[in-house]
Amino acid sequence: MGSANGDRELFKDKDDFVAQYREACETFFAKKYDELSQQERFCVLAGLIANKSRNLKVDSHKDDKEVYYFSLEFLLGPLLDNYLLNFGIRAIVKAGCAELGTTLEDLVAQEVDPGLGNGGLGRLAACFLDSMAALGINGNGNGMRYRYGLFRQEIEGGRQVEKMDNWLEHGFPWETRKSEAAVLVQFGGHVVRHEEGGRFWFTQEGGDLIKAVPYDVPIVGYGAKTVNNLRLWSAEPAAEDFDLDAFNAGNYAKAVKFRSDAEAISQILYPNDSGEHGRLLRLKQEYLFVSAGLQTILRSFENKYGPDKWADFGKHVSIHTNDTHPAMCGPELMRILVDDKRVDFDLAFKIAHETISYTNHTVMPEALEKWPIGIFRELLPRTYMFIEEIDRRYREGFPHDVEGWQEKLANTAILWDGQVRMANLSVIFSHSVNGVSALHTGILEAQTLHDFYALEPEKFNNKTNGISHRRFLGNANPSYSRLICDVIGEGWLRDANELAQLGRYEDDPSFLEEFEKAKAWDKRRLADYIRRTSGVELDCAMVFDVQVKRFHAYKRQLLNVFKILDVYNRILSDPSFDPRPTAFIFSGKAAQSYSFAKEVIRLINSVAEAVNGDARVNDKIRVAFVPNFAVSSAQLIYPAAEISEQISWAGSEASGTSNMKLMMNGAITLGTYDGANVEICDLVGEENIKIFGLRTEEVDALRAGGTYWAWDLYNRDRERLGRVIDELTDGTLAHLSGNFESIRDELMVNNDHDLVLADFYTYVSAWEELVGAYGDRRGWNRAAVHNTARSGYFSSDRTIREYAADIWHIES
Ligand SMILES: *Cc1c(COP(=O)(O)O)cnc(C)c1O
Repeated sequence: MGSANGDRELFKDKDDFVAQYREACETFFAKKYDELSQQERFCVLAGLIANKSRNLKVDSHKDDKEVYYFSLEFLLGPLLDNYLLNFGIRAIVKAGCAELGTTLEDLVAQEVDPGLGNGGLGRLAACFLDSMAALGINGNGNGMRYRYGLFRQEIEGGRQVEKMDNWLEHGFPWETRKSEAAVLVQFGGHVVRHEEGGRFWFTQEGGDLIKAVPYDVPIVGYGAKTVNNLRLWSAEPAAEDFDLDAFNAGNYAKAVKFRSDAEAISQILYPNDSGEHGRLLRLKQEYLFVSAGLQTILRSFENKYGPDKWADFGKHVSIHTNDTHPAMCGPELMRILVDDKRVDFDLAFKIAHETISYTNHTVMPEALEKWPIGIFRELLPRTYMFIEEIDRRYREGFPHDVEGWQEKLANTAILWDGQVRMANLSVIFSHSVNGVSALHTGILEAQTLHDFYALEPEKFNNKTNGISHRRFLGNANPSYSRLICDVIGEGWLRDANELAQLGRYEDDPSFLEEFEKAKAWDKRRLADYIRRTSGVELDCAMVFDVQVKRFHAYKRQLLNVFKILDVYNRILSDPSFDPRPTAFIFSGKAAQSYSFAKEVIRLINSVAEAVNGDARVNDKIRVAFVPNFAVSSAQLIYPAAEISEQISWAGSEASGTSNMKLMMNGAITLGTYDGANVEICDLVGEENIKIFGLRTEEVDALRAGGTYWAWDLYNRDRERLGRVIDELTDGTLAHLSGNFESIRDELMVNNDHDLVLADFYTYVSAWEELVGAYGDRRGWNRAAVHNTARSGYFSSDRTIREYAADIWHIES
């Protein structure tokens, strides 16, 4: 792929690149290129590109309105290859590396995944940064700089073991510390009321002052016309205050305790999918990045527009909150406006409301964030007062003439039952609330946030998620990308809708053969990676059937395991059963404290051990668990997939984004009618996707009916389903590290909350039909290419255009 950046060239040609790279080695490490390790060579190359990004003169943005995307997570993934693509210099750099005697691929592989996010929500934020920059939107990220990521996952005896993710060990070449832009954030203390000449105001006195220090990462848009900024906050002590008595007494730990207490706030990324609510440190993180981000935005607004233009703030600034983690934006913005800028309370609310918007990511009640009022008020006494007052006014203004108003008020008030309900806080302070797929937004409107929706339907809108097609097809799948460029050019990198032109090649036998070759190359690459990382040997002639994502009960990796066990049993018991040979590939982390999810990981590894070592079946099925799922390994897995498993129970997955990444790479979706699978189905047509299982209405009805009994399903079929359940505890899978009583109990004692048994038969049949179709190679490849051709809609460029037009009101 050639140069996308026209006259904005970083390097004149290959020789210029090699010369600059050699010189940078001397500047960075005072060593010659040949004397450096590959890791050091990567650092120099990334540093060189990062420096050029920072110094690039940026074309003015199309609209001067500034968007700030507040997210507690940005799952960036490795950046080097993406920046080379966006600068349009991949070919030059590749040739230069070859001349220097190494490969670009090997240097790219040195880059460590930044530990700044958990999964889908954080990756969405990173894709949005890429798209905002590509579209020339003045859009910046605001987040936290965690010293340690979630954890590095290793597998021991089949079990997930959590190791420290020291991702900053070799430094992060893309960031720049901006000490001069540090701000102070106050925790605790008490509120003091002041009065003078009939005017009164409040200050917050005492407590702890923390210094929030920003680290900036330049975000280069495709074509390098726009460079935006991702600002990540790190917590430090406000003053080098020191317990001299303790120091003199030799108690060094106590002497520097102020430092470790402050730094603890940005020390570690929390898991986002299990009971982390109520942890004081997490609340401090949320407040720190909100307050520091807002202080900075207000300061730059004041510098640009003058000290008394606050009424225009919402015309020039949009603040978008990714989930409820930044929910404090509303009350904190009011606090700064009222206390520091002397803006009137009503105007301050109006400003907050017209500036802030909110994306909801989950309808699951246990995942909706809540904080005990006592903790909240003690930590943030002044900010809390704004919540309390807005909640009071909300109650007072609530229409008392509608049927059942007490209950509706109880559902929607911010403060209830001793808790601050963050979703309600977000809705009340925002002018826009969106869900992340058509189905999910429908559920928000009809159920989760229905009482809000009835009051203000115009506030609600859908923004179906998207993904960076540049990263997840352009970077991740070089073989397929090259093939696509050969036939339709490289315009699709800028405009993903151009992928639709592949429709012309769906029936072109030679193109389909080339597609199959590209897929074979991707499968070989993944098989090599899997051999190195998990020791499992895969046969590349097998179908690659992939389920890679966080481990969670609702995502139903367990259902997939049940299918594998059923297939295993039937191969052994029924000589006429002869399914297409398949490699089942799993990857993903479970939160440290989520024992059920961790047991499912152990189960997969136990099934892998049983199946892969059983000569009676292992030329028919293999199972691999790839440790430590991350963006870097995801970029190897998605391109190689042929079946994309998207099997959450209907109504549980808000959108999903790996479903989009996989279809774009030519995998066929085997999925429930859930999240964005519904929209994938609409786009590719029912004959190019395999949908199975209960629909949302059926799930609701089954739950409401109270007639679902796991035991009935077990007793009805001891041959297949019953047998699989027995195998959890009868020793069949115990060889590696024991039986699976807790999983069996979840199904049989807790009556299978996630409906694994209910969807079992339709799922296994759907899978059999799907792999049955694999033998028709032409037909399969046609469907795969068709999926890619229809995937342009799922570019995050489309999603961001919709946010820009409907929520932020800017041109792009
Ligand atoms: C896309 C992505 C996810 C989200 O996957 P879902 O299947 O949509 O939950 C999680 N982790 C990584 C590394 C990703 O790239």
